[in-house]
Amino acid sequence: MAAYKNLKIKSTIMGKLSHGADLLDELTTVCKDNNIRLGRVWAIGAVQKARLGYYHQDTKKYSYFEIDKHLEITPLVGNISIRDGEPMVHAHVTLSADDGTTYGGHLAPGTIVFACEFVLDILDGAEYIRTHDETTGLQLWEI
Ligand code: ZN
Repeated sequence: MAAYKNLKIKSTIMGKLSHGADLLDELTTVCKDNNIRLGRVWAIGAVQKARLGYYHQDTKKYSYFEIDKHLEITPLVGNISIRDGEPMVHAHVTLSADDGTTYGGHLAPGTIVFACEFVLDILDGAEYIRTHDETTGLQLWEI
């Protein structure tokens, strides 16, 4: 059975990330610096290289792969909730190369910003806290 709550957007911030920054780390820093603990994020732009994850449902483990080329962010979508008491950005990203080839996956540290414009909606409501889910092996929301 689906579990959900009705939430309202408290405010929205819109900005750009730093050239050369780690995409996931800098988004997380924006959240921590602004005490954003519940929200959603969307971004477009380009990266110098990428590192993405893939969750293997059979072994319940992530594996990671790197794409060492210049790519467009087409786009990034994600959410902000709480893991181990801290804001966690969980984002998936689709990236496109110069021939239109696309890559996609779970955004991991090691994806380096060329330029990135983001919009972040801060949601009003009780925190969504991630806890271990026995069925999937993932850290999922306790709602
Ligand atoms: Zn993911």
